[in-house]
Amino acid sequence: MVLEEINGLHFGNFYLTHSQPTDTALLYHDVTITYGELDKTIRQYATYLQQNGIKAGDVVALSCYNTPEFIYVYFAVARLGAIIVPLNLTLTMEEITYIIRNADTKAMFVHENILAKLHVSPEQLQATLGLQSVFVINPDTAAAIAELEIGEMIEVNPRTISTLLYTSGTTGKPKGAMLSHENLMANAASCNRLLKLNADDVFMCVLPMFHTFGFTTSVLLPLYAGAAIDIHEAFQPKEIMHSLVQNRVTVFCGVPAMYVVLAQALRSGKAEFPDLRLAVCGGSPMPVEVLNLFNQQYNIPLVEGYGLTEASPVVSLNPLDGEKKPGSIGKPLPDVEVRIIDEKGNELPAGEDGEIIVKGPNVMQGYYGMPEATKETIVDGWLHTGDIAHMDNEGYIFIVDRKKDIIITRGLNVYPREIEEALYRHPSVLEAAVIGVPDPVKGEVVKAFVVPKEGQTLDRRSVLDFLKPNLANYKMPRFVEIMESLPKNAAGKILKKELRNLSH
Ligand code: AMP
Repeated sequence: MVLEEINGLHFGNFYLTHSQPTDTALLYHDVTITYGELDKTIRQYATYLQQNGIKAGDVVALSCYNTPEFIYVYFAVARLGAIIVPLNLTLTMEEITYIIRNADTKAMFVHENILAKLHVSPEQLQATLGLQSVFVINPDTAAAIAELEIGEMIEVNPRTISTLLYTSGTTGKPKGAMLSHENLMANAASCNRLLKLNADDVFMCVLPMFHTFGFTTSVLLPLYAGAAIDIHEAFQPKEIMHSLVQNRVTVFCGVPAMYVVLAQALRSGKAEFPDLRLAVCGGSPMPVEVLNLFNQQYNIPLVEGYGLTEASPVVSLNPLDGEKKPGSIGKPLPDVEVRIIDEKGNELPAGEDGEIIVKGPNVMQGYYGMPEATKETIVDGWLHTGDIAHMDNEGYIFIVDRKKDIIITRGLNVYPREIEEALYRHPSVLEAAVIGVPDPVKGEVVKAFVVPKEGQTLDRRSVLDFLKPNLANYKMPRFVEIMESLPKNAAGKILKKELRNLSH
């Protein structure tokens, strides 16, 4: 049982499980930080918070780029038994205000460059958001904290809430998923049963740390394993490819859009990553075509996984040793149960499409302050994901689509993913996304957005001619729009909501 492995720990000191004080913990630009230094700094940050009146149960928001400071603050808050609210950096002031109030936030850590971007002073921010304190992340604060004598740390109950993670909220207002210390630790430990990271690994963190996928897979998991984290603020291809070689990165974790870029660079012979031994992908569907292209160029495992904020987040992964099935999100993690159910809640046999439901130590405690939404989402301990999938006879799960993205045309269900996969097979297509648009007769019709590869052109006719032999007539796009790029969120997911707005 994964929970036994993490017994007695809370996530404020989880990074001490498999590390030695002299091992490298963080690589950031030219700076190397050992586990010993990391531990000391986290305890100094916790002392700073204590001295500023923060105690167990208080809510502290964090608005910061991928930096060592993000990690110090996150773990320091956890050390005190306080609750962290990581803020998505793309939010507007209005959205930030909503979350800060909804979470009953007491204090906030904010990077000085974010204040500049929002055009507010710390005092204005404090007043606007009704906070007791605002702590600015800058060299002065860091220097003051580095001088502090470490205070007494308290015992933290791992069953208590450590994090409120606001989900993107494609419908309605964002909701704060309440994740306990145990939820997050169990998920990192379960992932490592399969991925087997150790102190020799260097893990590239390029996904945003404020997002659940980035935090658990690219911060918590490597720190739990005693590995080093190579921290990057964003996916800048040149910088990333340089660092993969320079810092001898062994594990890369990203979203499909990043693999599109890496596979192309590998194919053109512009890049080689000699130390890379494992690539992990998730967050949105990995087109089989991109997976094949990467595998042809590079002979290391590329394992696709699936998860969601409410499950801390990872639910399933393809096995590292066993068979990896292209197009599959793998099998449930150790200790995590998955069922596929129909609309009445009955479990479906292998091969039939239905909703994924999940049970396990990674499932959230509920949505903060929203008992009704919680009751709808967690039924008898099972988390209802809203994702449609089937399982094969060997327990591999294949996502078909999201419940809310299904297109219904003349009463027939069309799964955008199937058409997207067909589009990715077109030799000139770099990226593709499919949505439904309203139609007075058919209810909805299919609309495809495609981005051509560099130096290539596409037009509607050639796209449709290519699809025709592969798709039933009702699935064929009525509209094809050629785009220069697709709108994506900070975690690299294609924003279908924005594509829908473009189409009104
Ligand atoms: P979030 O809570 O923002 O991480 O979004 C979770 C959603 O991302 C899931 O409910 C899925 O719809 C989608 N997702 C995550 N991983 C995958 C994957 N490998 N394949 C398809 N969809 C995915």
